[in-house]
Amino acid sequence: MVHIMPHPPVNGSPTVRADELLPWYDRSRRDLPWREPGVSAWQILVSEFMLQQTPVSRVLPVWSEWVRRWPTPSATAAASAADVLRAWGKLGYPRRAKRLHECATVIARDHDDVVPDDVETLLTLPGVGSYTARAVACFAYQRPVPVVDTNVRRVVARAVHGRADAAVPSPARDHADVAALLPADDTAPRFSVALMELGATVCTARTPRCGLCPLGECGWRRAGYPEAQGPPRRAQTYAGTDRQVRGRLLDVLRTSDSPVTRAELEVAWRADHLQRERALNSLLADGLVTRTADGRFALAGEG
Ligand code: SF4
Repeated sequence: MVHIMPHPPVNGSPTVRADELLPWYDRSRRDLPWREPGVSAWQILVSEFMLQQTPVSRVLPVWSEWVRRWPTPSATAAASAADVLRAWGKLGYPRRAKRLHECATVIARDHDDVVPDDVETLLTLPGVGSYTARAVACFAYQRPVPVVDTNVRRVVARAVHGRADAAVPSPARDHADVAALLPADDTAPRFSVALMELGATVCTARTPRCGLCPLGECGWRRAGYPEAQGPPRRAQTYAGTDRQVRGRLLDVLRTSDSPVTRAELEVAWRADHLQRERALNSLLADGLVTRTADGRFALAGEG
């Protein structure tokens, strides 16, 4: 077994102190409904699926309606694939909805309708990757496992390693880095969510608000904020991408009670018919859209 060490501490390398981070988190945390007491592990897992690539503000209404309608894995599994895709709405990356439906089915069938509480078993579930498995184990079951998302990687890169940005992701090294920071007592899960919150609300990618930062020491600040190395990151665009075309085509199908013709889909994207065909074919290949016997198109399971 290969042991990956965290970045070696340099002389006087700063750390993230729990006695600074935790009181700040208690004072400043956002009131997010999936953090409320009494929210089930399943409902936390749903939030993590939705938050993977979508901002909190867009997830909030969809999550609330989702868990009201389908509060358990078995309730979700009993819904049709088309209902799940409709409820996903405009969260984007709709393959996540399909995987969440499959995940619910496996939990209902193989795990007595209870979300597993250990990372290894969580990793066997459809759509659950390294981040989601650790997030659910930590946030739902208080397991002291490192939870590393983009925000956490950025905070650690700045505060501990004195760099403007995180290096290329390396799960083993990133987990080791964060594991080295976790308190050894039962505050570890709260420390993990607090680190993530700091990156999401204060140590943000473009405009870190260092004046509000609870950390007394920060390597990047101490070094005088050296520039990021490597090529500048390109901003992600959405307009004109295949992803946008897929979204438009799904909108047509979501808002229709019955299968639609190719001509009805063409209205959704007239700019480039080759791109439209490519997007439609990818939706068919992903199993999000189905083709009826008479050549029309419908959401999965509604053909
Ligand atoms: S001092 Fe600024 S750069 Fe350093 S961790 Fe805090 S917010 Fe981020």
